[in-house]
Amino acid sequence: MDIVCTPEELSLFKTIGDAAAALNVSCYLIGGFVRDKILGRPTKDVDIVCTGDGIELAHAVAATFPHKPHVSFFKTFGTAQFRLHGLDVEFVGARKESYSSDSRKPHVEPGTIEDDQLRRDFTINALAISLNSINYGKLIDPFDGIADLERKIIRTPLDPDTTFSDDPLRMMRAIRFSTQLGFEITPDVFQSICRNKGRLKIVSQERVTDELNKIMAAARPSVGLDLLFRSGLLREFFPQMADLSGVEIVEGKGHKDNFYHTLQVIDNTAAKSDNLWLRWAALLHDIGKPATKKFEDGHGWTFHGHEVVGERMTPRIFKQLKLPQNEKMKYVAKLVALHLRPISLTKEDITDSAMRRLLFDAGEELEDLMILCESDITSKNRMKVKRYLENFELVKQRLKEVEENDKIRNWQPPISGEDIMQLFGLSPSREVGVLKTTIREAILDGLIPNDRDAAYELLLSKAKELNLKPVNQ
Ligand code: ATP
Ligand code: MG
Repeated sequence: MDIVCTPEELSLFKTIGDAAAALNVSCYLIGGFVRDKILGRPTKDVDIVCTGDGIELAHAVAATFPHKPHVSFFKTFGTAQFRLHGLDVEFVGARKESYSSDSRKPHVEPGTIEDDQLRRDFTINALAISLNSINYGKLIDPFDGIADLERKIIRTPLDPDTTFSDDPLRMMRAIRFSTQLGFEITPDVFQSICRNKGRLKIVSQERVTDELNKIMAAARPSVGLDLLFRSGLLREFFPQMADLSGVEIVEGKGHKDNFYHTLQVIDNTAAKSDNLWLRWAALLHDIGKPATKKFEDGHGWTFHGHEVVGERMTPRIFKQLKLPQNEKMKYVAKLVALHLRPISLTKEDITDSAMRRLLFDAGEELEDLMILCESDITSKNRMKVKRYLENFELVKQRLKEVEENDKIRNWQPPISGEDIMQLFGLSPSREVGVLKTTIREAILDGLIPNDRDAAYELLLSKAKELNLKPVNQ
């Protein structure tokens, strides 16, 4: 098996082999590093397993370098790790594992390399390469992982029911690897995931969401999301998304399947941007549809207000999935709320003030909103998509023109609430809000130009209506 390593990697492996020999233990490269090197994927995580104490070996290896790298270790897990030449090098002692039914934390005892390979999740992750002088570089592949890499399949070393029941996170990992690598999960393994989906509840939400985010970060997230849905795993932790699925028919009229539409929108977005949170906005853009669905006589299916419902659902979903409760969440909610706005501007007779309002409301998020909105144009009818996209280009053009003229994006009205309070000797109050809004709306509607003098004049006349007088004048 030919794998390509850098000179630094080769010298590190030699050092590790020598240090292991001095300690009288055997050691091997294992897992993701071997898999990715064989596949020719970039990898910076080096996993080393040794028949003995991994922490001791890590220290012995680190000590051989002039700038001795700092070794962090976890006694309870028997693992140790250091960074060297941009590589993350992790050591663990070979182990044998047994599980009880209520936890994914195994009972662990020292074992052989074969025991250690048996505890690995998939055949393609159980490949080992010897670093010992007697068979340096030899591939140890007890489960035919190489053949599976060639056939591009994901299979477990043990009976899949055992593998998944022992540690149900592996079900998420199977789907994540399938999405990242473009590999197929064998039918018996997939059926086992369907059977064991209920076991996911013993896994912490953080770990599940980590895997979900790796799926979302892949080139085509739809692959994994579809597998999550079809296996039933998605409904276990994210029922709101599973609820998007299905088509109801009344009086011969159906609506589109919002689940598969959403997957298409995510893939379209992913093709244009690596931003994980923009992809999340794509995932959630129609999440309010099931709750707002109505069949209106003579009209067909409607989802009025689904963008508002979706915006409100976003924080709850972020909490449930243990996603960050910070500005990322606000960004996603904002895009969900605004996702229909750009497309509504493709109608004829759209005024500059409608354009200005979108520029103002979207602010810094305008480009991302436009990516989301363009990705949302999906239809089986190619001509329709073409026409929509052409109209959409016109909207982009007009937005650009209005923006250049008015400089409205990230814009603050020329007179602030502070200014108003000072001018009229007011403390924060309803009046200040009314005056502020009057100025902002007048500028956005194009009633007055975007400058201080015009705003000041309007402010004075509105204040008069409210019986307010400037102080010190
Ligand atoms: P990536 O780094 O891209 O996530 P990886 O395969 O390296 O992929 P890690 O989580 O880094 O995954 O784990 C390293 C190795 O440890 C895996 O290749 C696999 O052999 C083993 N492993 C990790 N998690 C599990 C698990 N839950 N069950 C069994 N083996 C596991
Ligand atoms: Mg890894």
